[in-house]
Amino acid sequence: MKAVLVVADGLGGRPTDWSGQTCLEAAATPHMDALAARGALGLVDPIGPGVRPGSDTAHLSLLGYDPHVVYTGRGVFECLGVDMDVRPGDICFRANLATVLDTDHGLRVADRRAGRIETGHDELEKALNGIRLKRTPDIEVIFRASTQHRGALILRGPGLSTHVTEADSHRVDALLLDVCPTDSDPASARTAAAINDFTRLSYEVLHDLPLNRRRLAAGKPPANIVLVRGASTRPNLPSIESIYGVRGAVIAGGALYRGVALTCGMKPIDVPGATGGLDTDLMAKARAAVGVLDRLDYVFVHVKGTDNAGHDRNATAKLQFIERMDAELIGPIVSGIDHGSTHLAITGDHTTPIDYGDHTVEPVPIVYAGPNVVCDRTSAFGEREAGRGGLGRWSGRVLPILFGYCNWAPKYGS
Ligand code: ZN
Ligand code: ZN
Repeated sequence: MKAVLVVADGLGGRPTDWSGQTCLEAAATPHMDALAARGALGLVDPIGPGVRPGSDTAHLSLLGYDPHVVYTGRGVFECLGVDMDVRPGDICFRANLATVLDTDHGLRVADRRAGRIETGHDELEKALNGIRLKRTPDIEVIFRASTQHRGALILRGPGLSTHVTEADSHRVDALLLDVCPTDSDPASARTAAAINDFTRLSYEVLHDLPLNRRRLAAGKPPANIVLVRGASTRPNLPSIESIYGVRGAVIAGGALYRGVALTCGMKPIDVPGATGGLDTDLMAKARAAVGVLDRLDYVFVHVKGTDNAGHDRNATAKLQFIERMDAELIGPIVSGIDHGSTHLAITGDHTTPIDYGDHTVEPVPIVYAGPNVVCDRTSAFGEREAGRGGLGRWSGRVLPILFGYCNWAPKYGS
């Protein structure tokens, strides 16, 4: 048996998306509709009914873990997602390269994403990794740039804590925030001091970098500071292989999803052209996914464009991405797999409606297809059809159910 899980981030929608229909319902999706016709549909509450999911917690839940138990914060997934070595005791953060203005009142945030900077990441990394903290010289700072303004940061040293506030206020024109401890543990005060020093020093080493002088000359916002958030340690969870005895891989352009999957023990497959955006090379991802199944038991494919379009409140972009996903990802996967021995599941990790522009609590549609799936009476993949699907409605655990169809589920009890 082989298994394929496709998660389209923020796939779910609302009738306000597209004159009474969701983007998924309005999109032409012949391949997913054919899977619905020969498989079974249901609705999944990614974490639980009424819980508004983050992407990280939703993915843990879809993969079979209880995020209320194992989730330690987002930063560690960003660090693992860019292949940083995360050790016990390390405090991990997600980091934004941002633009600040030096004003009479202090540093003021002008652009939280430094104009979505596309080049010069090596130069920024080199400057930031040269930073030595003066008040806490026994704490090492390790920075790695990811895509555009995104990056990850590790604080390594004795006596650190995750109990600190965030440096990023998420507001433009705000003065830079001081990070504060959120409890009375001396480790939290020490961590807050280290982050505040790092943030100030990041401005000192970056603001006059040749890269930023070039950006200013070209009228682009300089990447002159690093803002961190999502303090977390490495979560302690059993690998998928240790639970089910099967080995698999992840194909994801976004560092977060790659990081979550690596934490669960999946092998990362890097596909050139997989950007984690609307422009991602879906056909390359499909080829890679089919190729993985020659040597491993399962593959998890993540696409992010659906969620990006939802956050951008762009219904046309979401609908077109869903149509492209159907034609360029699902179609080639379906024609590349062996139908007698492969089970497939397609779902989202939450709903990202166009009007709201962020994640909401509604359940997401799911389709399972394969030789062991009892077919229901649905014939199209969408929210309304999923509500009539034979599988009903449940919470999380999409991967364990997929593995159950493959006869890989361990028995609970005797
Ligand atoms: Zn998501
Ligand atoms: Zn999102």
